[in-house]
Formats: sequence, C-alpha cells, structure tokens
Amino acid sequence: MSGPLTFGLDLGGTKCLGIAWVDGEVVAQHRAATDTAGPGDVIELLAEVAAELRSQAGPPVAVGVGAPGLVTRDGNLALAPNLPGVEHLALEEGLTAALGVPVMVENDAATAAWAEFSCGAAEEAESMLAVTLGTGVGGGIVLDGELQRGAHGFAAEVGHIIVRKGGRQCVCGKRGCWEVYASGTALGILSYERLGVTGEEVTASAAGGDLGALAVIGEYAAEVALGLGSLIEVLDPETVVIGGGLVQAGEALLEPVRSALPGFVYSWDYRRPTPVVPAQLGERSGAIGGALLAAQRI
Ligand SMILES: [Zn+2]
Repeated sequence: MSGPLTFGLDLGGTKCLGIAWVDGEVVAQHRAATDTAGPGDVIELLAEVAAELRSQAGPPVAVGVGAPGLVTRDGNLALAPNLPGVEHLALEEGLTAALGVPVMVENDAATAAWAEFSCGAAEEAESMLAVTLGTGVGGGIVLDGELQRGAHGFAAEVGHIIVRKGGRQCVCGKRGCWEVYASGTALGILSYERLGVTGEEVTASAAGGDLGALAVIGEYAAEVALGLGSLIEVLDPETVVIGGGLVQAGEALLEPVRSALPGFVYSWDYRRPTPVVPAQLGERSGAIGGALLAAQRI
C-alpha cells in the first residue's frame, strides 16, 4: 500500500531542483540550470523538470512549486527579483495547463518552512518561525499547525522589516531592511570591511577560535538576533529554525545568535527560552515542502 505520488519543484535564481515524493520519501530527483529570459521560459523549465521526474517515478497526482518572490494566494508570481523579466506571471494556471495535474505555487521560503515543520527541525512543534539566511533573508511562519499566508499571500517577508531608519539600500527599494544586515551577503560585506576576507573565511576562522573572526561573527549575530527578537515578540513561536547557506557555519554562528537573543526579547526571563535550531533538510527543503503542500491541497 503506498500513498499519493507528488512532485515538489524549487525554482531558484540559478537552479531548479525537483523531487518526487511518496510515503515520506524522496524517490527521484532532478536538477536543471535556471536559464530563463522571460515568463514563458519559467513554465517551460518547470515542465521539463516535472517531465524528467515523471519518467523516473511515474505520473504525480499533484505538483507543488516553491517560487522565489511574491506569490499571491492564487499562485501568481507577482514579482521575482532573481528571475529577470518575470512579473505578474500566472504560474499556477500556466503550469496546471502544461502538466495536466493540479499545481499549487507558494513562496519558496514558505515551502521550505513547511518541510521543516512537517518532517524536519520543527517536527515536534505546533508553531514555528523559519528564517533563511542566504543571498537575502526569507521567512516562513507556522502557527497552530497552519502555514501563514496573509491576505495576499505575502506574509512572512521578514527580510524587509526595517531595522534602521534611513539605513543601507535594499534590493527591494527601501532602506534599512533587516536583510541588508542579516543576510549571508551582509556577513560577506562585514567580513570584508573588518578583516578583508570573505564570509566563509570568517566563519571557518571563528570555528577555529580566531578572536578577530569571533568578533565579526558576534557583530553579525547581533544583527540576526535583533530581527529574530522582534519576530519572537510578535509571533511567540515554539521554535525558531535557521536555514539557508549560512547554516553550514553551524554552532559557530548559532551560539552567538542564541547568546544575543535575550537582549532583544521583552520578558525573556518569564518565558520558556525559544530554541534556535538549524534546519535539517538542506537544499531539498523547498522542493520537499512543495510536494507536501501539493499532497495536502488535493
Ligand atoms: Zn528590503
């Protein structure tokens, strides 16, 4: 006896990763470079990845897509800064027509969060905040077992809460957004400014106990904790899951974030300390979450 076969497709700025999912397992996987010049190419690329998965695993009952950008509740990719020329793309509708099975489209950080909640780092929790620290800062929120989408589908754009009035310019057009200070890109800039090295070199040196590197990581961790603290105030999540490229730094990064966090949360001493844990599913989380959401919605 086996459950429904669904596909999850994680559309990124540089690659598209697809997985076939049945009974809680990845049964096939395919990766293709994202080489798109416009909206039509995006649908073609996703359909190609789905076709390859189909040849490996058979026909799916539904497909879930994690897309990078603002995704409306009816599956339109309203804006995707990492996919040039893509705006107001009716992705759910277009891909449903191309594949002939139900398709759902969700923001990629949200699908990744759902995977960590369902079968990863927050499996035991009822509510969670997931934050991805990568090129930018993404977020996913689950409260009382429900993925939070907001009125338009644009909830959990945590990277664009403003932490400095008139601060540094963000790619979104505003100034002083949290992601300008807390993304992996921001750590790279800080590392270069302070020590003339890359973010990867700083995290490696910090893990080895280098004092200069530890100071840079401490400075960066305080920026991460600043935003997390405000989000904890609003959401009171049971657990916080940190994902994205920076999670590879492991405890060298997470421990300074945990140390800084009480300074940014009101009444820290009166609550059970909010655990800050690393994501467990790695680069496949976005695709796995897509497959899980697709199975849930049919
Ligand atoms: Zn911004």
